[in-house]
Amino acid sequence: MSHETLDAAAASLPAEAIDAIERAATSAHRHEELFSERAANIRQSAVRDVFDISLRPGLVSLAGGSPYLRSLPLDRLAETAARIIADDGLTALQYGAGQGTEELRTQICAVMAAEGITDAQPENVVITAGSQSAQDVATKLFCNPGDVVLVEDPTYVGALNTFEAYQVQVETVPMDQSGLVPELLEARIAALQLAGKSIKFLYTIPSFNNPSGITLSAERRQQIVDICRTANILIIEDNPYGLLRFNGEPLAPLRADNPDDVIYMGSFSKIFAPGLRIGWALVPAHLQRRYYLAAEAVTLCPPALNQMLVSAYLRDFDWQGQIRTYRSLYAERCRAMLSALEEYMPEGATWTSPEGGFFVWVTLPEGVDTYPLLHKAIDAGVVFIPGAAFTPSDEPSNKLRLAFSAVPPDAIREGVRRLAPVLQEALAA
Ligand code: PMP
Repeated sequence: MSHETLDAAAASLPAEAIDAIERAATSAHRHEELFSERAANIRQSAVRDVFDISLRPGLVSLAGGSPYLRSLPLDRLAETAARIIADDGLTALQYGAGQGTEELRTQICAVMAAEGITDAQPENVVITAGSQSAQDVATKLFCNPGDVVLVEDPTYVGALNTFEAYQVQVETVPMDQSGLVPELLEARIAALQLAGKSIKFLYTIPSFNNPSGITLSAERRQQIVDICRTANILIIEDNPYGLLRFNGEPLAPLRADNPDDVIYMGSFSKIFAPGLRIGWALVPAHLQRRYYLAAEAVTLCPPALNQMLVSAYLRDFDWQGQIRTYRSLYAERCRAMLSALEEYMPEGATWTSPEGGFFVWVTLPEGVDTYPLLHKAIDAGVVFIPGAAFTPSDEPSNKLRLAFSAVPPDAIREGVRRLAPVLQEALAA
């Protein structure tokens, strides 16, 4: 509609409607001057934007990294939740301990033992509203504006959003097929320290990195810890996917042999259910008290009912069997995605072959920007996340993330088939 037509339309509106429009226009900017400097850095998550689009009927979404929950025993869980409220409602609906229930913290130690952390003590576990909130607490606790946080390139968009909201300077370190490159990490630390920067921590997703699916090799794990220890930099190890390995040998987390160097973050979001918002941090003993106080200042206490449900799940259900179910489900979906990529992708595209987790990372030739391709892909009936979302700079990226977790194999194939001509066209341009 042109301006003239709009004006003519406005002229025919009743006075109250015009008042309402003007009020809305003015109130949209009200209180803007009151925002903190920090607020300017809070960015909208590209993943959440695409998430909304991906709910449109008929689209194949390879965008969202949602777990596939249909294999959960929903009826038994419903009975369990009802029983918790009936038998123990006054505890389940009451405030609780700020650090989380002792029962669940003890059970979480057993979950971590399944991955090779055998010395964790319940008093060093802090239960949080998902590991997203554990990251927020860590950043709040350690980072002043302008401090440096090191991250893998690429890294989890939610962590970037957190760091940027705290006005942290995010510095990326390249990965290759074996994960973060130790020599490049060492060089980057040296250069930043020479420039007088205060580096607080390395945030890393060593197993099945989101978005790349890459896993840090066994040889490099201790090297990375040693480099950070020498430079007096903490490590935040984010490991929501570690138990979802479907190929290759399990690798112990960085935390396993390095209890004083690593704040380890885990979550029930991928191995059970994200809607419960239960994650945790395993904090070195010397940092535990401050970490716990900072977490308490955010949420007072984690949700009691959800903790009790997770506890009942770990106690009375076959949680390890459920993880085996998830593993074989995701293995099948990953295979479907890799074989569809093999079949349909144009010459010049390459991709990772993950051994677990939810994601495949596709690289197009240098110079192709995947962001504008998203709209074309949506027109073609498929959604992905452009690579720029996973870097702090938002610079054009020739990469894109495909998630295989939430979609059945046939739909994965169809999605890749729809995506191929869009990429083909961009490569030919
Ligand atoms: N870290 C990574 C690497 C993730 O991929 C996600 C979820 N996509 C999170 C943390 C957040 O998980 P939670 O639901 O536990 O907050």
